[in-house]
Amino acid sequence: MAESSPLEDFVDRRRRLFILTGAGCSVNSGIPDYRDADGAWKRPPPVTYQAFMAHAATRRRYWARSLVGWRRIRRARPNDAHRALARLEMMGKSEILLTQNVDRLHQAAGSEVVIDLHGRLDHVRCMGCERVSPREALQEELERSNPNWLALEAVVAPDGDADLDGVDFSDFAVPACERCGGVLKPDVVFFGENVPRPRVEAAMRHLDDADAMLVVGSSLMVYSGFRFVEAAARAGKPVAAINLGRTRADHLLALKAEQTCGAALAFLL
Ligand SMILES: [Zn+2]
Repeated sequence: MAESSPLEDFVDRRRRLFILTGAGCSVNSGIPDYRDADGAWKRPPPVTYQAFMAHAATRRRYWARSLVGWRRIRRARPNDAHRALARLEMMGKSEILLTQNVDRLHQAAGSEVVIDLHGRLDHVRCMGCERVSPREALQEELERSNPNWLALEAVVAPDGDADLDGVDFSDFAVPACERCGGVLKPDVVFFGENVPRPRVEAAMRHLDDADAMLVVGSSLMVYSGFRFVEAAARAGKPVAAINLGRTRADHLLALKAEQTCGAALAFLL
């Protein structure tokens, strides 16, 4: 019999896990992560909420890049890490899967009890009337209104944004809300924007009911995720993490596996 890993023992010993996932989980699905092994940005930091809401030019640039980036995101399929975590839920071991990812790949793999902490990229929200509509419908409109932009290819980012350097975005047409004419924004939490409080509170209630926490593929550099590790540590619940490289919570971890998410969780498949 193969010897079990410390991580397998950790999972075996717990009844209900509070699972927090990040970009590292989706790397093998072709969605790159944001940060290198030292937790520093690999690419220019993403657009902020304040810049997006304040400047039409920022929105043109965002949607032009997203027109390109969305093609990759919508083609992405779950990998072994997503499948392993869906299996953990089937085993009754998952109290909640709280994900910082906006790609919906956990749901595509079969996880049902999921909170999308930072929202979902396949939805668009009107900042005027709150109407939510499918990103795919906006994609069709973006393509119809901007035929000259369809041939662009670029490097895509985890939030569906893409690197397009030295491009003039001034003639890019950005659709407005068809109901109220308001500003359309992807239904994701931008940098500089707060996670909606009810969403945080719902996740915290799940943490109360969990007996341990498992972090999968996150450097925890963003406070919205890190605060759950702090809360788990305060409550005396052990925290294990799978991450290639440093995390902000290294000093709080009971166990750390410096492996890819798929490899570390392979014992579940
Ligand atoms: Zn509207």
